[in-house]
Amino acid sequence: MNATNGSTESTHAHYLSDACQQLGYGQEVYELLLSPARELHIQLPIRKDDGSIVLFNAYRVQHHNARGPYKGGLRYHASVDINEVRGLACLMSLKTALLELPLGGAKGGINCNPDSLNSRELERLTRCLVEKLHRNIGPTQDIPAPDVGTNEQIMAWILDEYTKIYGYNPAVVTGKPLVVGGSHGRKEATGRGACQVIANYAKHHNMPLEDCTVVIQGFGNVGRYAAFFLDALGAKVIAVSDSQGAIVNHDGLDVAAAIHHKDSVGTVSGTANCDIIDNASLLALPCDFLIPAALGGAINSANVDAIKAKVIVEAANAPVSWTANDILAQRNVPIIPDILASAGGVTVSYFEWVQNLQFVSWSLDQVRDALDQRLAQACRQVFELADEQQLQMRSAAYRIASERLKDAIFAAGI
Ligand code: NAD
Repeated sequence: MNATNGSTESTHAHYLSDACQQLGYGQEVYELLLSPARELHIQLPIRKDDGSIVLFNAYRVQHHNARGPYKGGLRYHASVDINEVRGLACLMSLKTALLELPLGGAKGGINCNPDSLNSRELERLTRCLVEKLHRNIGPTQDIPAPDVGTNEQIMAWILDEYTKIYGYNPAVVTGKPLVVGGSHGRKEATGRGACQVIANYAKHHNMPLEDCTVVIQGFGNVGRYAAFFLDALGAKVIAVSDSQGAIVNHDGLDVAAAIHHKDSVGTVSGTANCDIIDNASLLALPCDFLIPAALGGAINSANVDAIKAKVIVEAANAPVSWTANDILAQRNVPIIPDILASAGGVTVSYFEWVQNLQFVSWSLDQVRDALDQRLAQACRQVFELADEQQLQMRSAAYRIASERLKDAIFAAGI
């Protein structure tokens, strides 16, 4: 039951293997939990505006649907490959199980650099994906959502293309704009979720949030909302970064100013009253909570020794390699794992799906209350098991999720 390197795929295989051993499951159950049900590799030929034809590789991995329809994001990024998508699909099955959502797990992506395509080309690429994938997605089959490099607009194109074939059914995709069946609170959900998980952790450990400092790597959808909500709860966000640079102010950043600067200039670098530092130095800043909210593998064997944070919060998917995870565990640095800390997005995606199936709309307050309650319950379960059995939070979360997934697979019958 051993994985061999630090890629996203093997990271989750490694943790799943540990969970299965602790639960007393044999090799066959481990393989049942790890192996995806279906993997699709699709080629997308697109004509660019200059007349040239470019061929893109797209993937959709449907991991498990024993607990409900496959569910997971679509990533447009140059690093996308089948191994990455396979690992992220497994992570989604565990995340939905941990949050007790009646959904399974999937992930998809297109290997592309979205910044090199204009809006018309991105639209053609997305419509072409649905043209090739529509038989394998659907409201009770597989429901995509946004991830790195994708957004509400791309979800709206997916809905429109699907509607042309099957008629209007907004529950086929989540993370849509409000005007075409999106949910209040979806855009902010992953960042708010990370913030709520930190608030629950801080309460559990008697750490007043007003006395806590926070450092955030990544200032996209997840990072900026995490900063916004933590700032609103009184925590001191002292540093943030994006792919173009990092900024620090040890007295606390003006988060609204950093968001405004990012929106107007394209980077946080240069925000007033902050010092510019390099991205590697940001990860090494002393702080109470370090939140990696960019890409996988951000904290790895090369930089783990420099980490001085008291607690790491995985708002991104798989931002800590398992080698770094084990080193941090030896140093007793707690890690709030991705299947808990980044679960806010899929939880509100579930609420969006429920609203779409019933053709109703919840208020922002309803969505936020339901999200906060569900996360508080998952936190309680993970913290209690970790305390009782003296486990790392990741081991506790993986145990709970693996057991639920295994029970559903066996209840349905092999
Ligand atoms: P995004 O594309 O909106 O933002 C990513 C951010 O990371 C950008 O600000 C980018 O500049 C920054 N970045 C990239 N490389 C960096 C580097 N080396 N150093 C510092 N910053 C860097 O993506 P997102 O939606 O915010 O997703 C971020 C992470 O959260 C991903 O791992 C994603 O899988 C995960 N996640 C997202 C959601 C969601 O709802 N969007 C849900 C669950 C998990």
